[in-house]
This record gives sequence, C-alpha cells and structure tokens, in this order.
Amino acid sequence: NRRFTLVARPQGLPRDSDFAMTQEPLPALAEGEFLIRNYYASIDPAIRGWLEPAGNYMPPVPLGDAVRASTIGVVEQSRHPHFAAGQWVMGLNKIEHFSVGRGDGFTQPIDVSAVPSPTAYLSVAGAVGLTAWFGVEDVMQPAAGQTLLVSGAAGAVGSLVGQLAKRRGAHVVGIAGGAEKCARLIHRYGFDAAIDYRGKDVTALSAEIGAACPEGVDFVYENVGGACLDAALLNLAQGALVVICGLISEYNGPPQGARNIWQLLVKTATMRGYLISQYLDRFPEGVAAMARLAGEGAVVYDEHVEDGIDNALPAMLRLFDGSNQGKMILKLA
Ligand code: NDP
Repeated sequence: NRRFTLVARPQGLPRDSDFAMTQEPLPALAEGEFLIRNYYASIDPAIRGWLEPAGNYMPPVPLGDAVRASTIGVVEQSRHPHFAAGQWVMGLNKIEHFSVGRGDGFTQPIDVSAVPSPTAYLSVAGAVGLTAWFGVEDVMQPAAGQTLLVSGAAGAVGSLVGQLAKRRGAHVVGIAGGAEKCARLIHRYGFDAAIDYRGKDVTALSAEIGAACPEGVDFVYENVGGACLDAALLNLAQGALVVICGLISEYNGPPQGARNIWQLLVKTATMRGYLISQYLDRFPEGVAAMARLAGEGAVVYDEHVEDGIDNALPAMLRLFDGSNQGKMILKLA
C-alpha cells in the first residue's frame, strides 16, 4: 500500500521534505471492516490546516501517518454486512492506494450512474458542491435585488456559490486572480462582474468592489481573507451578512486579521463562520440537488485532475499559487 505520509510539520508552504512516500503491507481486515481501493483523492485547502500541530475542527494528521483526504473508490474486499465488493464508496480517508472502511458514517455508498463521472462526488456533488449549496440556499439565501460578493470565485466552491446565487436572481460579483479567471467568471459561470485582486491593495480593491456593487454588498462569501475581506468590509450594505467559509491567504502564514471590523457596527452587519460539517444530516438532500443541477447543465463545474500519488504535493501547491483550474483531484488508480 503506497501512502503519502507526513514526516514533518510544514513551516509555511509545504515542501518535499515534509512528506515521504511509504510502502506498507495491505492491512488485514477485522470483522465489520472493508478494504477500499482509492481511485481519486480530493486535494483541498483544508488539508493544510490538518497538518498543523494544533489541529482545528479536526485533530491534526499524526506524524508518520498518511495525509487525510476525502476519497472515492471501490470496495475490494469486505467483512461488513452492508458493503459488498464492487460497491463504489466515498469517505474521509487518506492519500493512499488502499484505505480501510468501517461503515461508521464516514464512508458512504455512492451511485456513480447518477453523475457524468465518479469524480463528481469530489466536486459538484461532493463536499465543495455541498458547501456551496448549503452556504447559498440555507446560510445566505440571497434574493433578486440583493448583491453577493464571493472571493476565490473561480475556484471549486466559489464558482458554484456564484452560479447558485445567480439562479436566485442576485447580482453576483466575484474576486479571482488574473484576467483569464476573471473572464471565466463572466463567460463560463455567468457572474455579473469580476475583479482581479492581484497586485491591488485594500484601497484599490475597495474602489473596484464599490463600482461593481453600487448598492453595497448584502452578502460576502469569504474564501480568502486578507485584503479581499478588508475591502469587502468597506462596501457592506446595511444589515449585511459576511460568511467566513475559508481564509486561504492565511493557511501558510500568520493570520492577517481584518482591520475594518468597525464596518460591522456602522452597517449593523453580521459576520459568522460556516462549516459544511454542520449539515452532515442533510448531505443526501444536497447531493441530490447538486447532481440534478449538474445533470441538467443548470450549473457548470470544472475539475483539475493530476495523475498519480507522486503528484500529491504538486497538486496541493497548485491550490496556493492559483494554478488549479477547477476542483483539484488526484487520480490514484
Ligand atoms: P479552490 O478551487 O478555490 O482553489 C484555491 C484557490 O484559492 C486558488 O486557485 C487561488 O485562486 C486562491 N488562492 C490561493 N491562495 C490565495 C491567496 N493568498 N490570496 C487569494 N487567493 C488565493 O479551492 P476550494 O474551492 O476547494 O476552497 C476555497 C475555500 O473554501 C478555501 O478557503 C477552503 O478552505 C474553503 N472551504 C471551506 C469549507 C467549509 O466547510 N467551510 C469546505 C470547503 C472549502 P486565485 O487564482 O483566484 O488566486
């Protein structure tokens, strides 16, 4: 069993020397367990946080263990009554060729005939799709006449957030890195306006947000933090809701903080954190909704697949230099 193993806690951007490819014998199955051959792993920004010694909403990945990731795969052998060999499953596993499932709720069967490709369970009908779905449909619920601003807008979560908000009639503005991603926001994802954040300070970004959101911003869907968040705070509408979904600009460095918190008072606004795991009991509803929208072509989504476990680190680093073009997925088999 080839595994992408954590051997040192990264300082800043993860490096080669923080990991090792280890080779271990296949685990023997106990009663109630099954062996999963992992076909694809989801490479998520959240993984970076799980490598920190302190952990966050999940315990840290232990040194010497394979790096945690959501995977999809096929049951190879089973000693579990409800998981038969040949069944496709998704679950929170590790970046390794084989994982052991226990049917404890972390591993779920998936119906690959319901989606164009099994990888959809790591993208549009997976955690990122559900993050967008419940973030828009439950947490924010934007309506016609309201404005939603999303950062990290060309990414896996952001591109879906923008499309779902457009479907509800909102005015949608995205922030992304570079002209190409900004063009994609407008022409592929149907955003009303796009702002390139690269090389701009809070003042410049704030001016561009103001021009794209003349009535102010009712909903900020924050994936990035730093200057993007500070500029958004300067453009809030009265009673705005700022949802912190992620702060990727801080994941490899010190917290940047938000300097314009005073605007929450001025605009009687609310800022809150949001974690997709809050919606665990409603996952089936979200999967069905996103699979249907994707199947109908009502939302479009992009996947960026890198091949082979040896590319685990390069794939992860693409999330931080912005060179991923859609949901970052690592093909394992
Ligand atoms: P993406 O597909 O959006 O990939 C990451 C993107 O982030 C990059 O392409 C890059 O885009 C942008 N980025 C990276 N570093 C910086 C930086 N320093 N400043 C500005 N932008 C940066 O990833 P996901 O869609 O999977 O995740 C997006 C966010 O959602 C993350 O913050 C993640 O942690 C969060 N998340 C939260 C969940 C929750 O339950 N709360 C669940 C899933 C994700 P660009 O080229 O535009 O710079």
